Amino acid sequence: MDSFYGFERSPLPLDLILEIREAMKRGDFDKRIVKRTPYSVDVDAAELECGHTRPVAVEYEKGKDEPEHLYCRECRALWISSL
Ligand SMILES: [Zn+2]
Repeated sequence: MDSFYGFERSPLPLDLILEIREAMKRGDFDKRIVKRTPYSVDVDAAELECGHTRPVAVEYEKGKDEPEHLYCRECRALWISSL
């Protein structure tokens, strides 16, 4: 099955997928947000301490704070390509 509910199967080996998940649980790719710039009503462009930028949804739910850290997909991709 190469597609499952619209999700494409990763070309990565299963053990590497699990290793990446463990790294994400440890927060290895979590980066501090240094600047947020409104991009649309619902989304900001968040500049991260690593220099990468990613979209982040604006929180409208009462009592819910905007995150101070986000995981960086680009840092994760660089880590994967360095293996
Ligand atoms: Zn990054």
